[in-house]
Amino acid sequence: MSLLRQPILLLARSSGVKKLVSTMPVTSGIVTGYVPGESTAAAVEATGRLVDDGLTVTLDFLGEDTVDAEQAAATVAAYVEVLKALGERGLARRAEVSVKLSAIGQALPDVGDKVALENARTICRAARNAGTTVTLDMEDHTTTDRTLAVLRNLRKDFPETGAVLQAYLRRTESDCRSLAHEGSRVRLCKGAYNEPESVAFQDKIDVDKSYVRCLKVLLAGAGYPMIATHDPRMIAIAASLASRFGRATGTYEYQMLYGIRPEEQRRLAAAGETVRVYVPYGQEWYGYLMRRLAERPQNLTFFLRSLISKK
Ligand code: FAD
Repeated sequence: MSLLRQPILLLARSSGVKKLVSTMPVTSGIVTGYVPGESTAAAVEATGRLVDDGLTVTLDFLGEDTVDAEQAAATVAAYVEVLKALGERGLARRAEVSVKLSAIGQALPDVGDKVALENARTICRAARNAGTTVTLDMEDHTTTDRTLAVLRNLRKDFPETGAVLQAYLRRTESDCRSLAHEGSRVRLCKGAYNEPESVAFQDKIDVDKSYVRCLKVLLAGAGYPMIATHDPRMIAIAASLASRFGRATGTYEYQMLYGIRPEEQRRLAAAGETVRVYVPYGQEWYGYLMRRLAERPQNLTFFLRSLISKK
């Protein structure tokens, strides 16, 4: 884990910092760099632009850790609305959605898993009607087993539903083995949360080694790997493993976040690879923005400067 990541993620929990940052306009450069807008229209418009550039998209309606059933229902409604809009605009073949279970009820006391599963089903149904799919984002390690259980359940009716595994967790290589089967879409990322040593590798080198071991399992397997990273080394290793395992382009894909290494996204797409851009949108951009800032120390100066100039 980087030296700066932990303090930034801790600072992000302070209510004062949250209040100050959340009242920044979405049009502030630091926000628009990572989030194209707050409305369905802004999300669909950004999708159209990326698709025109030869990319594919996964849309994430921002919001997490909801402990309010009404807010969870509003998030489901937002997904249904955006999926309908993608279908109507003819974009559903090139754009899917990513969903955090904690945004649709998983964190509700007692009934969380049941509510999250029902809500996820509603979104999967809307996705299927529009002609596309859903991927379940992965959150902190306390939710991994529960999220994988919801995934197994959902896949009975919606086998096309994608999973996410995080290479920084010690358990992930084994989870990759369980999920590297025919028809299984698995996004492999490094992991974005602040996790304890008991469950997660702490040094970048160990996370990277784990990422490569997981890549080998997924690319050698029969599923559809979704290689989510901006790391040039991981991308080069993935390309050479794909060729070693005789993987044709289109039997796996690369994924990157909106606004990060856009020129690399276009380079890979121009080379014939499938590249999916993760596009977060909505008003609840705070947690997402703080995780992105924590990943890149250079962002911190820029961020602090924009806070100071706001005061
Ligand atoms: P790093 O080693 O962090 O970065 C490699 C290089 O990428 C850096 O040197 C820099 O050049 C560039 N870079 C990385 N981050 C930034 C940044 N913020 N700003 C500018 N440049 C940057 N995590 C989860 O825990 N759960 C999920 O469900 C999840 N879904 C994801 C979906 C997608 C499509 C992607 C791309 C990531 C997802 N993540 C998720 C986040 C992921 O776990 C990492 O936190 C994030 O991708 C940074 O890791 P990296 O692989 O890019 O490598």
